Amino acid sequence: MPEGGRAIERVTTVVIGAGHAGLAASYFLSHHSIDHIVLERGEVANSWRRERWDSLRLLTPNWQSRLPGHRYEGPDPDGYMTMGEVIEFIERFAAISGASVRAHTNVESLRRTDDGYDVVTNRGEIWCRTVVIASGACNRPTVPRFATEVPATVAQLTPFDYRDPAQLSDGGVLVVGASATGVQLAAELTRSGRPVTLAVGEHVRLPRTYRGRDVLWWMETAGIWNQRHDQVDDLTRARRLPSPQLVGDPQRRTLDLNALAATGVELVGRWAALRDDRALFSGGLRNVFALADLKLRRLLETFDEWARTHGRDAEVEPPERFAPTRVPESTRLQLDLRRGEIRTIVWATGFRPEYGWLDVPVVDPKGQLRHDGGVLESPGLYALGLPVLRRRKSTFIHGIEDDAREVIDHLVGYLAAGR
Ligand SMILES: Cc1cc2nc3c(=O)[nH]c(=O)nc-3n(C[C@H](O)[C@H](O)[C@H](O)COP(=O)(O)OP(=O)(O)OC[C@H]3O[C@@H](n4cnc5c(N)ncnc54)[C@H](O)[C@@H]3O)c2cc1C
Repeated sequence: MPEGGRAIERVTTVVIGAGHAGLAASYFLSHHSIDHIVLERGEVANSWRRERWDSLRLLTPNWQSRLPGHRYEGPDPDGYMTMGEVIEFIERFAAISGASVRAHTNVESLRRTDDGYDVVTNRGEIWCRTVVIASGACNRPTVPRFATEVPATVAQLTPFDYRDPAQLSDGGVLVVGASATGVQLAAELTRSGRPVTLAVGEHVRLPRTYRGRDVLWWMETAGIWNQRHDQVDDLTRARRLPSPQLVGDPQRRTLDLNALAATGVELVGRWAALRDDRALFSGGLRNVFALADLKLRRLLETFDEWARTHGRDAEVEPPERFAPTRVPESTRLQLDLRRGEIRTIVWATGFRPEYGWLDVPVVDPKGQLRHDGGVLESPGLYALGLPVLRRRKSTFIHGIEDDAREVIDHLVGYLAAGR
């Protein structure tokens, strides 16, 4: 009994977060008969319910949506799930795996004790020997510091605030960031009739299909997504890689910068600074495009080589090469935000995790967990669902099974050793 006579619940393992990662942890903990609970501040699949825009579909095809003991079995394996379908898919996984989820339970602090961890929630305190942090890698949108200096006449939105184009006033939109979120929102806002300018930094260009197959079929079958964290040359860089320019479009259309420019989107360089109410963009779009094109070409060569050496050439179409990204004849290097041309800025500049509740010194100065394949420096503390945690596919739905199995195996070993 703790001081003050408050009862503290005891359990072997606490999992924080009931997204697919926390639920996968629960699946393997149950398999090992380890008593545990999953604490969730909202509901199962909360991020998909509260933090995504209306038109979003998964960019991973349905056949790739699989979790331990649960996979997509509907009539459209090549389609892409809507948000409603993703929520249903994850809810069903929670039901099938019998996960013991405590919804509306926010973890307010996590502290180490002599023999385990003390978890304080809005609904009481729990002591446990081990913890799996599966609270997500994308809890907050990342926005540059200078956003606070944008003139008040220009509205600002992040992907967490954005639902659909009707929310924006008429007039020009500056979308900042050309990864999956930025290209998708730029396309949707252009279709709504608004003039869109897209600020483009380093990005990953991918066609939706290659040689007749979804490009993610190639990523998976050729073994790229399975590459392990300890085989990746520059792990820090791999963990920071932006999401690819893909959209889960039922027509399987490619959404690269050429496609966007063809619909009238104006491309400018990375938004580097804000001075005297002017957005200043980097020059050198030509180099940024050339780098993305080069990486794409190398990736396609890897696919071709894999098909050839694995005797798969006959089952796919012949190799294709795509036109280089077209460099606009002239690009603006600055934009006066007082002129009224831009009415809204949409920050599609990435996401980051949020560990304000974590009172264990395992967070680096950049706000990321320090870990080795999901094993943290504090004994009995683990993480799942972070970029390239154990493999390149770690943050994707289909990537969790292998990671969760191995991380929970480690946890089981730790408990068995009685440390
Ligand atoms: C815009 C976007 C599109 C994506 N598209 C795809 C895709 O097409 N295919 C794919 O495979 N992946 C996609 N992903 C990547 C990934 O699948 C998702 O980010 C997914 O939500 C990650 O699952 P998770 O379980 O790791 O984290 P989350 O789903 O974020 O789950 C974490 C849970 O922890 C809870 N939580 C956080 N802090 C606390 C706390 N202190 N106390 C209690 N609970 C807490 C949250 O409420 C949340 O429910 C996408 C990601 C984003 C951002």
